[in-house]
Amino acid sequence: MTAEIKKPRFGIDIDGTVTCPATLLPHINSAYNVNITLDDVKEYDFLSAFPHPVDRKQFQAWFEENEPALYSVSECATNAKQILTAWQHQYELFYISARGEKLLDITKDWFTKEAIPFHHIELIGSHDKIQAAKKHAVDVFFEDKHDNAVMLAEELDIPVILFDTPYNRPAVPNNVIRVYDWLEADAWIKRHF
Ligand SMILES: [Mg+2]
Repeated sequence: MTAEIKKPRFGIDIDGTVTCPATLLPHINSAYNVNITLDDVKEYDFLSAFPHPVDRKQFQAWFEENEPALYSVSECATNAKQILTAWQHQYELFYISARGEKLLDITKDWFTKEAIPFHHIELIGSHDKIQAAKKHAVDVFFEDKHDNAVMLAEELDIPVILFDTPYNRPAVPNNVIRVYDWLEADAWIKRHF
């Protein structure tokens, strides 16, 4: 009889974590004739970076209409594919995203096209990831959204790797680990899992 060894399970956000945090900006810039850079995005809200007021409802409608196309051509974050590929047999890769459920096919197609490994993808349609992360009993979470990272770390009492961006710079508690790239995330994981 062989004892079954449970692999550590990782909960991983998609947008701004597996995808490059700046990947949507060229599309927003061309649709709105602006020139926003990632450094301008100091809050988790693209509208905060606009040089002029934009109607939030109109922007939301534009975004929702273009989401499938935007996600189909999203660029992968630097080194994400390399690290996730190296992790795939040692860890369980559970992607938990705020994207809506109707985007599941597009999301899976993107992972397949980019050859990024996954064991499970869950699109919860809201930013409240606590329930999904609890249900799947993830051992560590990977995020780019500051309040999500803090909430997940506090409610689940697990380490959360926060990928640094201009929009997530407020202070973090001890079990939220700020990293600057996937290589640094890999180094932390190797030390702890
Ligand atoms: Mg994200």
